[in-house]
Amino acid sequence: MATAISTRAPLAIHGGRPVRETLLAYGHQMIDEADIQAVVEVLRSDWLTTGPKVGEFEEAFAARVGAKYAVSFSSGTAALHGAAFAAGLKEGDEAITSPMSFAATANCLLYVGARPVFADVCDDTLNIDVEKIRAAVGARTRAIVPVDYAGHPADLDPILEVAEAHGLTVIEDACHALGARYKGRQAGSIAHMTVFSFHPVKHITTGEGGMVTTDRLELADKLRCFRNHGITSEARQRQACGQWFYEMVSLGFNYRLTDIACALGLSQFVKLEENLKRRREIAAAYEESFGDIPGLILPSVRDGVEPAWHLYPIRVDVKQVQGNRAEVFRALRGENIGVNVHYIPIHLHPYYRERFGYRGGEYPVAENSYENLISLPISHGMSDQDVSHVIEAVTKTMSFFAA
Ligand SMILES: *Cc1c(COP(=O)(O)O)cnc(C)c1O
Repeated sequence: MATAISTRAPLAIHGGRPVRETLLAYGHQMIDEADIQAVVEVLRSDWLTTGPKVGEFEEAFAARVGAKYAVSFSSGTAALHGAAFAAGLKEGDEAITSPMSFAATANCLLYVGARPVFADVCDDTLNIDVEKIRAAVGARTRAIVPVDYAGHPADLDPILEVAEAHGLTVIEDACHALGARYKGRQAGSIAHMTVFSFHPVKHITTGEGGMVTTDRLELADKLRCFRNHGITSEARQRQACGQWFYEMVSLGFNYRLTDIACALGLSQFVKLEENLKRRREIAAAYEESFGDIPGLILPSVRDGVEPAWHLYPIRVDVKQVQGNRAEVFRALRGENIGVNVHYIPIHLHPYYRERFGYRGGEYPVAENSYENLISLPISHGMSDQDVSHVIEAVTKTMSFFAA
């Protein structure tokens, strides 16, 4: 991936030539002929939804992440909702979660009437800080919802210890972390429940889709019931035996993932190892190329962790750069690099400010990081040339802004 980098070239935003002609997206799905064939086969079959592909996909998924059960949902958000329900969260309860995430992580708590209580993140990984969790646990706390930010697992062992001490359920939002490892264990086999997403920017896609993994049968049963209107699967089995009888025992939703989607998921799953390998290669190339650039803070990896690299978030160190994140961001976009920002801390969204009275300043590590964050493109479909373009654009841009 070596490239001749001209650091003197004028930036595209100043009328120079952009590093590439077309925009490189920060994340993108990769669909091959086998994926298309898998979907077409289902379309020709007797089942479009809740047929054999659902169970096959769930079994393959559970086996890959080392969990006893995997329950599919129509999206990662629906899966989070299901997990919040299965954890027994309800009106008056609280759950502790990270502000450095997509809004759905906290929204799922509101769906079941519980209150999200944020705990600030650690400055190195931007994952929830266990000390801040300890400080936030109260009489109403029922769950902890850590996020594996960018694909780097949260510090799950101490989090599980806190949960154990207070009788809490841990719901890990691993939507970034399919294939990540924490101290030799797979994301999906560690927390009480682990949630994944199959949105097109994630590691594997089903269009929309999600999964919850767990080792506990009673949680798996609740999850299956919840995604199917609150109708017991036992009754579905009775129905399968030719009986008309079924019972709705709780208020659920139609959150089922279709056979069409599961066939795509199974076909995508075959390519997961290659996908992870490619993301790790790209992360290594970035680290090697950017390690010596002053003014950039690269993502850090803790001992015993193998991230899945859903994102490659860099931070602009404003103390060492003449300019701010917005300017660097604009310059990179000008070079046709589809940079993004993950995330606006959840409590700063207007809905959370208005409902809970946040004014900013509550979670300084998340807020300060957000001010400096830029996600660089990283996805398995990127060619060597795409990677070189990112490296060239970042090098060119940072040499312009060098203090
Ligand atoms: C993608 C994502 C979700 C939501 O998943 P959907 O499948 O888009 O509903 C939740 N949490 C995080 C951290 C995500 O990245």
